[in-house]
Amino acid sequence: MLNTLTIKQAAEGLRAKKFTAVELTKACLVRIEERNEELNAFISVNAEYALEAARRADERLAAGDNITMLTGIPYSVKDAICTKDLRSTGAGQILDNYIPSFQATVIDKLEQAGAVMLGKTNCDAFGHGASNENSMYGPVKHHLDQTKVSGGSSGGSAVSVADDMCIFSIAEDTGGSIRQPAAFCGIAGLRASYGRNSRYGIMPMASSFDTVGPMAKTTEDLAYIMEVMAGHDEKDATTVEEAVPTYSKELSSGIQGLKIGIPKEYFEIEGMQKEVREKIEEQLETLKKLGAELVPVSLPYTKYAISVYYILVPSEDSSNMARLDGIRYGVRSEGDSLIDVYANSRAHGFPEEVKRRIMVGTYALSAGYYDSYYRKAQKVRTKIIQDFDRVFDEVDVLVTPTSPFTAFGIGEKKDDTISMYLADVFAAPPAIAGLPALSVDAGADASGLPIGLQIIGPRLSEEVLFRVGHTLEKA
Ligand code: GLN
Repeated sequence: MLNTLTIKQAAEGLRAKKFTAVELTKACLVRIEERNEELNAFISVNAEYALEAARRADERLAAGDNITMLTGIPYSVKDAICTKDLRSTGAGQILDNYIPSFQATVIDKLEQAGAVMLGKTNCDAFGHGASNENSMYGPVKHHLDQTKVSGGSSGGSAVSVADDMCIFSIAEDTGGSIRQPAAFCGIAGLRASYGRNSRYGIMPMASSFDTVGPMAKTTEDLAYIMEVMAGHDEKDATTVEEAVPTYSKELSSGIQGLKIGIPKEYFEIEGMQKEVREKIEEQLETLKKLGAELVPVSLPYTKYAISVYYILVPSEDSSNMARLDGIRYGVRSEGDSLIDVYANSRAHGFPEEVKRRIMVGTYALSAGYYDSYYRKAQKVRTKIIQDFDRVFDEVDVLVTPTSPFTAFGIGEKKDDTISMYLADVFAAPPAIAGLPALSVDAGADASGLPIGLQIIGPRLSEEVLFRVGHTLEKA
């Protein structure tokens, strides 16, 4: 069962010549063939493209030169990330036929490292959602219980990894889209610091929130991926110049003396599943036994995070989504006038949630409401950032649940927008502040559905987050 390996195991096997990259890739393709029809994790599978990349990786491995941890390792990519010459729909019908002529810098880097792209994963359209039910290609089903959602928006990426259809995945996180599905599916997922990974070639949702990050079976694997994908990109002026650390080096150096803040607001949320709280508290005890110091802290502005998020994100969204009008790319509908063509293309090409965001955002930015909504939300965003700055003077990281509950039923929240938005109550605050946050598996509830633990750190502290995540996984 080669497809069940981690990056570390697969890389070791490839180097020891126990199997080839082609065999590893075929094992994943077989699994996709068996499972995808039911789970709906992939929108496009590019088997020939993958096998060709695997053959090249085998040559590279045989020559023994320029081998990286990712050489020959099969992975999936969220469909909201552009891949050259390979269909990229963003899970929206408006891009159903879109084949980019360029690709994301992060994907270029992975290809240069010799990783093998299998295909594009399903998601909420252009990243809008927390359950994958806003995909225009149907929801991704949870791999352990097909009546449950996989989380969103990167549910396809999460299930592709959790169900062993690939070894890792690359996804996008604006306000929880990597961490929440990772938590629901029992894998590890990193929202990198804003500016750490290039956003070039990512379909933009809310540009001051969007980040790209990895999803994998272990934290250690995330570290290997970040070593390849992170770094400055001249095509993305928001990327930072700071050198990329060798994240895997310090993974095992433990957490002795580390100060872990426990923000009380994250444990007082109404509607939190009891087992989630219990599991996180158990894990906190483990961290304490391993040498960390637990420090209660307070982030009083947390309660405004969802409101701020759902004003600022739709505002940026309403501007970003304007490029999708049926003229420049994708599917164009008929119409008697130019305006009709725009309107029909968008009416047909966007799901309800995207339309809602465009309307809310346009409203919040309009002349009469700008001051009372957009400007005010920006001010509260600053307060939330200051909250975090203050606690990070005192502690090294924060530990919280990733989501207040485990995977919910398909259809359960679909028509209840507010309760769907609340799914990101713990994931949104670090995104508002541009901070890195890691979700790791913390056990399961009584029905066996995974529970995620979130570790939040100051900007560019990924190395510390990985160390905490790895320590917990080992324990
Ligand atoms: N669920 C959040 C939203 O719908 C997060 C989306 C994301 O991170 N792309 O906005």
